[in-house]
Amino acid sequence: MLENKNQDRTSLSSLGEFGLIDHLTKHFSLQHSTSVKGVGDDAAVLESSEKQTVVTTDLLVEGVHFDLSYMPLKHLGYKAVMVNLSDVYAMNAEAEQITVSIAVSNRFSLEAIEELYAGIQLACHTYKVDLIGGDTTSSNKGILISITAIGKAPKEDIVYRDGAKPTDLIVVSGDLGGAYLGLQVLEREKQVFQVNPQNQPDLENYSYIIERQLKPEARKDIPRLLRDLEVKPTSMIDISDGLSSEIFHICTQSKVGCKIYEDKFPLDPQVISTCEEFDIDSTMVALSGGEDYELLFTVSINDFDKIKGNPHLTVIGHITEKNQGLNLVTRANQEIALKAQGWNSFEE
Ligand code: ADP
Ligand code: MG
Repeated sequence: MLENKNQDRTSLSSLGEFGLIDHLTKHFSLQHSTSVKGVGDDAAVLESSEKQTVVTTDLLVEGVHFDLSYMPLKHLGYKAVMVNLSDVYAMNAEAEQITVSIAVSNRFSLEAIEELYAGIQLACHTYKVDLIGGDTTSSNKGILISITAIGKAPKEDIVYRDGAKPTDLIVVSGDLGGAYLGLQVLEREKQVFQVNPQNQPDLENYSYIIERQLKPEARKDIPRLLRDLEVKPTSMIDISDGLSSEIFHICTQSKVGCKIYEDKFPLDPQVISTCEEFDIDSTMVALSGGEDYELLFTVSINDFDKIKGNPHLTVIGHITEKNQGLNLVTRANQEIALKAQGWNSFEE
């Protein structure tokens, strides 16, 4: 977990907008030769190259995408960067730059925004990306953060959602469901705390899943691993909304069907034990949980030998003809139609 150092409170208005931007960004240095000009002019300047450029944006709104009662601002900053880098890696590209735009109400102190930027800076440092600009404004209520990430890849390396073919294997990185269960634990503790603020939660048994929720890591290593293994996925997407919703995207765009196997889903032991405790089905959690920021991709069956046994990768099924539909094979060997029960921010 990330440590929170700031206890003082300086009002944001005491610095003014320019003072604030300067204060927040002065500790960032540029690491990529493609970042010609970062923060400080009317626009950033990037050097172009032979490669293609990928660009992605995510907007996070307090009360919709995060709850500050259990999401420390430093973690929020880190996670907001991860969410974007994950999309760049899902194109099989390398992330190089980000811009960060924030709207904050005067409820937040300078020290609070410094925490947010400390998380952003840690993410930039760890993942070797340059903060090259952004925008800063006030909001009437709460905090809003929008990040844009820019990445590069040779044209022939870029992987889209629409290239999956029947017989391709369906592969996921890491394990599934942890982030959702971490959120369930945090929500439960929040309610316990509201009833009895003296209660000190013991979260040791949930450390992995809470970390998955509060400090997710984007899978920068997977595109590199696949390159080393000389495997180019036929399609790829990151798992932000849940496995089933992401498989739907791949199958719809690739005009194919799929068969995935319940007994193949990669689950951490803590996910299994917490599912038992909460009396929820681990398959549902893996399918619909969301926020795992793992990569879901398809590879030609001819590449099976190159990926088999890799500890980061699990084959969970295969692509079928479109008319076969999207199916889950249960442990009891029953086939049921998959539903795209992913996270939908417009749902009530
Ligand atoms: P403008 O008035 O042209 O929009 P700003 O004063 O908003 O310029 O921004 C000045 C510089 O600071 C620009 O380089 C901009 O990209 C950068 N910047 C503004 N806000 C942020 C932020 N929250 N994080 C990082 N860089 C920022
Ligand atoms: Mg501006």
